[in-house]
Amino acid sequence: MFGDIISNEEAKSFLKNEIKIGKKSGTYLFYGERGSELMEFSLAFAKGLNCSEDPVDFCGKCDVCLRIDSGNYPDVEVVEDPTGIKINQVREVIYKASSSSYEGRKKVFILKDIENLRVEAANALLKIIEEPGEGTFFIMTSHSLNIIPTIISRSTAVHIKKKNPEELGITEEEYEFFFGDVAEIEMYKKIGIDLHHPVSYSDIGEHIKNYVKDGEIESRINIKKSLRDFMGNRRFLDDIEKIYFAEEIYRGSRDRSVAESIMYEGILLNDDLSKTEGLLHIKGMLRFPVNVQLALKMFFLKI
Ligand SMILES: [Zn+2]
Repeated sequence: MFGDIISNEEAKSFLKNEIKIGKKSGTYLFYGERGSELMEFSLAFAKGLNCSEDPVDFCGKCDVCLRIDSGNYPDVEVVEDPTGIKINQVREVIYKASSSSYEGRKKVFILKDIENLRVEAANALLKIIEEPGEGTFFIMTSHSLNIIPTIISRSTAVHIKKKNPEELGITEEEYEFFFGDVAEIEMYKKIGIDLHHPVSYSDIGEHIKNYVKDGEIESRINIKKSLRDFMGNRRFLDDIEKIYFAEEIYRGSRDRSVAESIMYEGILLNDDLSKTEGLLHIKGMLRFPVNVQLALKMFFLKI
């Protein structure tokens, strides 16, 4: 039930009301910072629209709710691409939206990270979200409102706020360590690692390798600690050591999204605001086919 979700009272009551008034179709934009529960709310709303037990909320226990949670419900589809949803994915959504639903209930398309959408994909999407067919709902999620205005104007925008440390049952310091990322915090709470135990920046490559292999929160925490160690010592490091650090990251993973998330965290940790714009620019370069290793070197020489 919506009542089981901690935080965001306003969004919860708004969405419950949307379900209650029994809309035939709709287009929503759920936006909130990184680490906020955009997916949790998207799935909750999808369950609320389709739950077979509770007409104004979701039960979380019926066959429909359980299948939506496990990603096995054909009428609720999550569309995503780490580098931005592509035009052929949008075309597929348009095709599916115009065909009838599998289970005879409501079709829900959750389109993730709309802020990364390219212009041609956005234009294709505009036509379908303007007037979704009966029984069709679009939930778009975004980490910012810096998106094509015509998408915003065609949707009902719902702000999903991050949970605060108190709602998550952790200290301010722990919250800061994870930048409020709810998914990571929940995993961390289960294992209880000492966040003060230091990890050297020179080991970041190994920790990235481990994380790519096991996906464990422990490896993730070690990456964060290595980066913090680098940030704390960077003013004492020679350029050659900064280049070594960038190379270690690349040795750990050549994946653009890994480089991007480490740069993102570096920007958050950087206390020299005069550098922020330049750093964001380098991070932004990763969206284009530039050499990842080179971008990492430029970034860590500059920071
Ligand atoms: Zn249910």
